[in-house]
Amino acid sequence: MHRVSAIVAGLAAIVIGAVAKSPPNTFEVSCKSLGARIKLPNVTVNFVQYVPSGSNISLADNPPDCGQAPQQAYVDLCRVALAVKTSDRSSITMETWLPRKYTGRFLSTGNGGLNGCVDYASMAYTTMLGFSTVGANNGHNGTTAESFLNNPDVVADYVYRSVHTNTVVGKEVTKLFYPQGFSKSYYFGCSTGGRQGWKEVQDFPDDFDGVVAGSPAMNLVNLISWGAWFYTLTGPPTADTFLTPNQWALVQENIIKQCDGIDGALDGIIEDPSLCYPDVSSFICSATSTNSSACITETQALTVYRVLGPFYSETGSLLYPRMQPGAEATSAFVYYNGVPFTYSTQWYEYVVFNDTTWDGTGWTLHDATIALDQNPFDAETFNGDISAFKKRGGKVIHYHGTADWLISSEDSKLYYRKVSDTLRMTPSQLDKFYRFFPISGMGHCSGGNGAVSIGQDLADYTGQAPEDNVLMALVQWVEKGIAPDTLRGAKLSGTEVEYRRKHCKYPLRNVHVGPGNYTDENSWQCI
Ligand code: CA
Repeated sequence: MHRVSAIVAGLAAIVIGAVAKSPPNTFEVSCKSLGARIKLPNVTVNFVQYVPSGSNISLADNPPDCGQAPQQAYVDLCRVALAVKTSDRSSITMETWLPRKYTGRFLSTGNGGLNGCVDYASMAYTTMLGFSTVGANNGHNGTTAESFLNNPDVVADYVYRSVHTNTVVGKEVTKLFYPQGFSKSYYFGCSTGGRQGWKEVQDFPDDFDGVVAGSPAMNLVNLISWGAWFYTLTGPPTADTFLTPNQWALVQENIIKQCDGIDGALDGIIEDPSLCYPDVSSFICSATSTNSSACITETQALTVYRVLGPFYSETGSLLYPRMQPGAEATSAFVYYNGVPFTYSTQWYEYVVFNDTTWDGTGWTLHDATIALDQNPFDAETFNGDISAFKKRGGKVIHYHGTADWLISSEDSKLYYRKVSDTLRMTPSQLDKFYRFFPISGMGHCSGGNGAVSIGQDLADYTGQAPEDNVLMALVQWVEKGIAPDTLRGAKLSGTEVEYRRKHCKYPLRNVHVGPGNYTDENSWQCI
């Protein structure tokens, strides 16, 4: 954390320098008068407050189950909290954070999972980078989907309306506060936030000049059914089809052993899991094996094989691509833990069936058909026609960790192909406005083994240089026309950068060619 603190202290020093040259208190006075100036339809001002850099922002209004610790402000801010009615039976709460040191750029953040939690961490991070940033509660409070019950308007907020409304209102507030308004608008989100970014690209192409969409939960309804499907494969912990977390860790170890070298480097990282087809029969205990902790049964091997296979509908069409191999040890606690996956259960309970007795244990493939037929407000977010976004000059950077234990990176590849097919454009044509970067070793949005820090959050921040920061790479693309060919990630060890690696633009993949070892970024080539 020392590295981050030092960076923040450095930025604070720059800000203090800027403050000294400004007339005293102008910013603060202007902030305090902003509430009275906000007169927008359906908008109620909850409060406006001036937040000096370094303050711990109290988030008393954020529901406790969001688990959000008080958020530190890294720069001086004007904090605006609003409520916006989205229908007769739904509303969002949203905040706009207006930094004193403003670059003229507007930015919207997203959410995660099924939650209704403002992404304060991203708001603090991006205001530190000089953006006027908005975040909303996604139309409901807390981490569960309970408020979707019999209320499609709350579902509409979740699927698209919270981010869109937040963006429209946040732009107005930004224009009211800064005389110069804003020059460009950006979106920055991961997971559900990644899907929300894609929803904007697909359905509200005018909202943003540039979008960073990470590890997106797109193909959402099928993703939810895929999550429900795993329990039918593993069964409960008492079933002979079930593997313990230790056995899944053993499976992962063996899979990485089989596929690590495909990219030319034995570094414990599978650069491109699409090329990895593990032989699960090699994990099976032999007749003479006495150490059952080093192998699994034939029945368990079948579970592994099915879990790592594609997910088909009851009529045999592909609903969701396979889980990419190599992330089993973590998925073991999420999907393969012998209970129905909680987000899937909640979606069926509160959206598909509106039946609070639904517990997920009786889920069948036919339910996947019912859910997909319902697809409320096109929650799928899998429309390949993004021509309107292209036409308005928008740019999108899409990234996805190739060791994502929650959302398969294969789904991002499927979507890239779908856009290519829908628009009849080759990758080099797509390059002009849409670039996709698989990030090797990255888990879900962050973490994992490898050069996974690309500036996607403050903990993964190593500086503002566009080559090392996915958001600033997008800014450079939008504002200077310089598009990123690679995203350069850092492998952090505590406060130090252990090594860096340049992640290739899909469909190229990274191959270790030497002469240096795998920690030498110049010994890799995108082929
Ligand atoms: Ca490798």
